[in-house]
Amino acid sequence: MATDKQTPPQQQESGSESISSVLSEKRKFPPPTEFSNAAHISSMEDYEKLYAEAAKDPEAYWAGIAEQFHWEKPWEKVLDWQPPYAKWFPGATTNICYNAVDRHVNSWRKNKAAVIWEGEEGDQRVLTYAELHRQVSKFANVLKIAGVKPGDRVAIYMGMVPELVIAVLACARVGAVHNVIFAGFAAHAITERVNDSKAKLIICADGTRRRGSTINLKNIVDEAIVNTPSVRSVIVLKVTGEEVNMHDGMDHWWHDLMGLAMDHNEPEFVDAEHPLFILYTSGSTGKPKGILHTTGGYMVHAANSFKYVFDIKDEDIYWCTADVGWITGHSYLVYGPLLNGATLMMYEGAPNYPQWDRFWDIINRHKITILYTAPTAIRAFIRAGDEWVTKHDLSSLRLLGTVGEPINPKAWMWYHTVVGQEKCPIVDTWWQTETGGILVSPLPGATPTKPGTATRPLPGIMVDVVRKDGEPCKSNEGGYLVIKKPWPSMLRTIYGDNKRYEETYWSEFKDMYFTGDGARKDEDGYIWIMGRVDDVVNVSGHRLGTSEVESALVAHEAVAEAAVVSRPDDLKGNALIAFVTLKDEYQGDMKLREDLRNHVSREIGPIAKPDEIRWAQGLPKTRSGKIMRRLLRELASSKEIKGDVTTLEDSGVLEQLREQEEED
Ligand code: ATP
Ligand code: MG
Repeated sequence: MATDKQTPPQQQESGSESISSVLSEKRKFPPPTEFSNAAHISSMEDYEKLYAEAAKDPEAYWAGIAEQFHWEKPWEKVLDWQPPYAKWFPGATTNICYNAVDRHVNSWRKNKAAVIWEGEEGDQRVLTYAELHRQVSKFANVLKIAGVKPGDRVAIYMGMVPELVIAVLACARVGAVHNVIFAGFAAHAITERVNDSKAKLIICADGTRRRGSTINLKNIVDEAIVNTPSVRSVIVLKVTGEEVNMHDGMDHWWHDLMGLAMDHNEPEFVDAEHPLFILYTSGSTGKPKGILHTTGGYMVHAANSFKYVFDIKDEDIYWCTADVGWITGHSYLVYGPLLNGATLMMYEGAPNYPQWDRFWDIINRHKITILYTAPTAIRAFIRAGDEWVTKHDLSSLRLLGTVGEPINPKAWMWYHTVVGQEKCPIVDTWWQTETGGILVSPLPGATPTKPGTATRPLPGIMVDVVRKDGEPCKSNEGGYLVIKKPWPSMLRTIYGDNKRYEETYWSEFKDMYFTGDGARKDEDGYIWIMGRVDDVVNVSGHRLGTSEVESALVAHEAVAEAAVVSRPDDLKGNALIAFVTLKDEYQGDMKLREDLRNHVSREIGPIAKPDEIRWAQGLPKTRSGKIMRRLLRELASSKEIKGDVTTLEDSGVLEQLREQEEED
């Protein structure tokens, strides 16, 4: 099956503007025959054919997909492109909630489960499409009674309960613009987002459950809205029964309003370019950006990418573990699955509650067939030990997915063997809040996979890796990942800040969207993400992508997680600093520092050998679980953190790293 491992490094002449690639992974896994035989797209020939057709006439390709949805009024043309501003399906009107819910209620799927929900305490609920439709229609009426008009912004701040999905869909139904704020954020992050989007209404829960305790969300909202003049009312859903203050005239209980609302609601058919939601990026590289997505184009790509990347079938029970507070939750927990009439699993709680096998227990009990999660979770599971996984029957699984960060080949192999039992293809999906949907990913029945690469772009998506001057890179030469043609679910702007939109994405290369990521394309045309361009480390004239050095470190048996940054150095120009989290059984092994440096040198070459290794109990991460290298960079050179930390998950981690440094 798999051919074997590393080959000698590919290096560029020093001083060139390209990014040097040092890691080369040669294992390759063809899709299992049985999987291919039943898949929507079952061979590379079919993929190549579709890709070529779409490339020849992208507008015809997208129009063909769009025709599968309900449009109240047809489009006048497919695309109006005035770089860098796109209008998809101008002239058309539609409603994404109608397409995600009503369409199925009018079909045999009416009594099919739409949402299967499980809470941390083990409580469960199932909403059929008919029930979802009833609740969404009622809540849409509540929004109307509350004075919400098409185009108004509504902030949503609640845990992962079905009402979160209901609230999102009801906003879309009445043409309001939802702005979901992850329930782990503190008051000032809410204030910032609510003020930026000028939300009129906040929908929240009284509380949410996390690792056996409850968090009072309403109190946090009370604190946040002291400084939000746009907010006129707050609707509060009772979940945990927290003690909350209900302010007269301002705060209303969800159940009181639902009790008054009628079942029937006519969806508001809006322009294809009507804003659907604002969502802030994770803040891995700087201050979060308020990304604006619109209705028609987003619907078309979220639905279509979901269908093909997850090869969805009516029998599937699909589970995306991301929170709805992130783009993954928007596109692949709510919209993508529901637009396809799929059954989705939703879990409110921690992956390690009551113990480290919660995910595997859920998969076994609910007979999950498709699991979509993130590398940060996979690394945590590896650290916790295989026995938590192997004690459960995971034979229902047929497909695995990952998103959010480059997945280190070691973590990929673990996912493949321990979770997937070597029979489930892995879709490593590359995309961004800005792209609205997956752009680069294997098609599981067609694409042979390799550990650590998102492989090839989806049909209709023109991505490339280019040099600083915009010319395409040679095979395996590291450069900048760009998108050369507009796509339907692209962001339309940064909310209220066209200038920042133009500068961030469109100023680096002429008429190409710049993703901010470094990448290389290998001999099969597979895209390997090498990390953020902001995080590229410069050593002795070589520009190295962080992910390759980190993958080499993680490949060592003692290492659970690693982050690499550079620091200005008088002698070398730059020194390479690696922050390393060891597996528990290796903690305190002093000899490891030297072992690890030599290991990296052996695996990928002496230029990547870290000058310094620092032990870390944990790494600073965004609340969506991504490593924040910019904070480590600041810590490595000055000990002072000046950058934006609103999305940092746990500030204790930085404290620990500072103390550690003093001890060492
Ligand atoms: P900010 O833009 O505020 O710095 P962010 O980029 O982390 O935050 P997201 O939109 O959540 O916000 O993340 C998109 C980024 O995540 C991509 O640009 C890429 O760097 C990384 N990413 C996502 N999926 C993958 C993947 N499969 N492989 C490698 N990297 C990925
Ligand atoms: Mg980003």
